[in-house]
Amino acid sequence: MSDKEASGSRAGMAPVERRARSRLAQLIHTQGLLRGSLLQRGRACGKSGCKCARGELHQSLYLVVSEKGRTRQLFIPKDWEALVRRWVQNHHDARELMEEVSRIHWERVRTRKK
Ligand SMILES: [Zn+2]
Repeated sequence: MSDKEASGSRAGMAPVERRARSRLAQLIHTQGLLRGSLLQRGRACGKSGCKCARGELHQSLYLVVSEKGRTRQLFIPKDWEALVRRWVQNHHDARELMEEVSRIHWERVRTRKK
């Protein structure tokens, strides 16, 4: 099989596919990517006399990631929040773009267009 056959014809690439690929490439080359979801939950700091000891918990952000059936949680400090949110969003966007390219290829198989 030639390279052209392996990748499909670039000349015949629809604009929607070209856009998706170009955005995907840009994300992967230049941005941080982080898979997981963000979860806000209460946390006790452990200091006696703190409001959290009376049940008024501090709200903290966690990144929740499941890997091979195990769920892991990572505390996100305040000064990391914006960066982590962006990385998680980038990963989400990259996945969406991959799905878009995948749908196009599904159609190509369905309609027998190599
Ligand atoms: Zn506290």
